[in-house]
Amino acid sequence: MTILFTHIKELLQTRPQSEMRVMGRAMADLPHIKNAFLRIQDDEILDFGPMADLVIQDSDQLIDVTGKLILPAWCDSHSHVVYAGDRSQEFVDRLKGLSYEAIAAKGGGILNSAETLQQTSEAVLYTQAMERINALIQLGTGALEIKSGYGLSTEAELKMLHVIKKIKDTSAVKIKATFLGAHAIPKLYKTNKKEYIDLIIHTMLPEIDRQKLADFVDVFCEKGYFSLEDTAHILEAAAQYGLVPKVHVNQFNAFGGVGLAVKHKALSVDHLEVVTEKDLEDLKNSDTMAVALPGCSFFLGIPYTPARQLIDAGIPVALASDFNPGSAPSGNMNFVVSLACIKMNMTPEEALNATTLNGAYAMNISETHGSITKGKKANLIITKNMTSYRQIPYHFGNSPIHKVMINGAFVD
Ligand SMILES: [Zn+2]
Repeated sequence: MTILFTHIKELLQTRPQSEMRVMGRAMADLPHIKNAFLRIQDDEILDFGPMADLVIQDSDQLIDVTGKLILPAWCDSHSHVVYAGDRSQEFVDRLKGLSYEAIAAKGGGILNSAETLQQTSEAVLYTQAMERINALIQLGTGALEIKSGYGLSTEAELKMLHVIKKIKDTSAVKIKATFLGAHAIPKLYKTNKKEYIDLIIHTMLPEIDRQKLADFVDVFCEKGYFSLEDTAHILEAAAQYGLVPKVHVNQFNAFGGVGLAVKHKALSVDHLEVVTEKDLEDLKNSDTMAVALPGCSFFLGIPYTPARQLIDAGIPVALASDFNPGSAPSGNMNFVVSLACIKMNMTPEEALNATTLNGAYAMNISETHGSITKGKKANLIITKNMTSYRQIPYHFGNSPIHKVMINGAFVD
């Protein structure tokens, strides 16, 4: 099956296979071809270039997209899309003046999600998550990382990871699974955190490895959650099973989590609402991607990740949704692109690099996803008619999407 798109107004993010991520000042450049063609064979990108170079060959389907842009589908490298219930009551509590920390202290927050999840069956969790993911695909998401971390018991963490595995096996989009047993300290271990960490290390990790349920490991490294020492223990144990870290750091406090994650060869450090000079130094010349989650800052009213500072220091930045019921109940990556421009002063070029190629890097799939490159997956966003890609962040809250293609097939 071949599909030929012609008269593409702008074909965005055209890159050679060798470019796995883009960092610092280079993020200001978004390679693109005006008046382009793009040929798809089965689930892959076969060929592309300017219309002037098009040699007409037989195609099963020819689609003239005059006036429209084509770009790679969003790669959302940080989500908690498998969850039970919702936390809209806490949302209202917060509107009335309670802080996120205060809500967590009175049994809300992650522990609230964990309690609900423990009572929800695997089948129901799967159905609800798939509904969310199918809605995200319509919004242009073509690859998604999903974390456990609302289980907080061996049984419930495994249940979450089984759900993620089933999504991986059945969803059209590329899925990566992250084990986040260290998301919060469960009530049962409130006075004995060490015992819970032992459970993670000696019971959960070996079983997850045995069943091959995770690609990555994550820890919420934050005051009141997991310390540097706790984080180091968990990352060291996970490394024995080949699990690469992607770590929640610097959401509310900066105390060395970035340096620790870099030392453990983390693929990404995520959140970074608070960043020190030392953090910038640690990230420079590392292989670690900085991941900003502006939807969380927007929803909680906390500071945004200082992306300008990171980019100006030569560091690569990715953007992700953090889709979760407590602090970012939306996985809309179009809105994430807008927020990055409006609230973090990223340029449209930087924001689009951060949500495609750099997002792919932050989930270790940039060999196959994240750019318009021969041989990569045909995961595409075909936009509505627009004058330029600048209109994607500009019309915040609007969907720029005409159609989405995943693995060479149009999504209904
Ligand atoms: Zn998160």
